[in-house]
Amino acid sequence: MSIDETEAPADTSYTHGPPENEAGAVLTIDLAAIEANWRKLRSLSTPAECGAVIKGDGYGCGLEPVAAQLYHAGCTTFFVADLSEGKRARALAPDAIIYILNGLPTGTGPVFAEHYLQPVIGSSSELAEWDMFCSSSGWQGGFALHVDTGMNRLGVTIEEAVAIAPRLSSEHHGMTLLVSHLVSAEAPDNARNHDQMVTFRDIRRMFRGIPASLANSSGIFLGRSAFCDLVRPGAAMFGLNPTPGKKNPMRRVVELKARISVLRRIEAGQTVGYNATWTAKRPTRLAIIGVGYADGYLRSASGGDNKPGGAAIVSGIKCPIAGRISMDLMAIDITDLPPNATKRGGIVTLIGEGIELEEVAERAGTIGYEILTSLGHRYARIYKSG
Ligand SMILES: *Cc1c(COP(=O)(O)O)cnc(C)c1O
Repeated sequence: MSIDETEAPADTSYTHGPPENEAGAVLTIDLAAIEANWRKLRSLSTPAECGAVIKGDGYGCGLEPVAAQLYHAGCTTFFVADLSEGKRARALAPDAIIYILNGLPTGTGPVFAEHYLQPVIGSSSELAEWDMFCSSSGWQGGFALHVDTGMNRLGVTIEEAVAIAPRLSSEHHGMTLLVSHLVSAEAPDNARNHDQMVTFRDIRRMFRGIPASLANSSGIFLGRSAFCDLVRPGAAMFGLNPTPGKKNPMRRVVELKARISVLRRIEAGQTVGYNATWTAKRPTRLAIIGVGYADGYLRSASGGDNKPGGAAIVSGIKCPIAGRISMDLMAIDITDLPPNATKRGGIVTLIGEGIELEEVAERAGTIGYEILTSLGHRYARIYKSG
């Protein structure tokens, strides 16, 4: 172990939010698991370099603690969404390469230079502005060029790439990375993956000598031809399954546990919550917890009479959410628990103990990415790094 590894920050100074006993729930984020996941992705994609995508406030886990952990683990290339995230990452990773995925907002060249950030140029007008800025200021901090191979979101077109390649490949232009992004990497059988890889291979030939990057988390599992020189995993580092439908090869990172505020009994026929969408079919015991959609626990996971919603583990038993999730509260149907199995202050697990992010997402009609990036800031956040 290097000194850096033994001294990796056991840093609780990142603990955000209220004290545990004052918060509606405790969110535990396992930084050691994030690091282990990154190391695993790195070894899977050797000999390519393994960067880290920490946009979306580090996929909801907190950009600073995540950046610090990965930087100390040896990650030297980071991708964030925008300049504000870039500045935050720079403060934690003083000599890393930090790419700004959303590119160059008008007039911000000097901000890139001041913080030594590199834009992922996403259009020819951005490129023109960047060129102008570099030639007028003498800045040579480098940039990535995104070439669109099917997403139709960011990136110059293939025709534009053909036109500018001769100029950009010349030595002094400062282009440091060629980027494209897969549309359906998590569906390995989707023919688009192959098409995009072939297209990108052809584009790389026009940019000889410049490192290239194509794969996100799931892209790494498409095999060697997706690796190129640098891989860009995000989601899998945070425990999301990069191989949907197969066993999750990643370690779990987040756990969310609430404490019961109030226990109550209702009669059969009574309803729970706003708009009375859930009706008790039997004498029912409810546990009320102080977590709601204002905490990012999506309202679409509400449990209705005709639509089951999310679930929680109470005393080892999976129990359904009853009724509409409110802003700050939800009710859990604990009728199936043995009497006295729990009490006021008892623990309710919303993520963890066998409830995976993917399940929470499915019950809310969304994807794990949205669950992670919605994780609220009223939780007591505990960062585990050992
Ligand atoms: C978000 C993003 C990634 C990371 O994707 P994951 O699926 O989270 O691994 C990689 N590249 C680009 C361009 C992205 O926007």
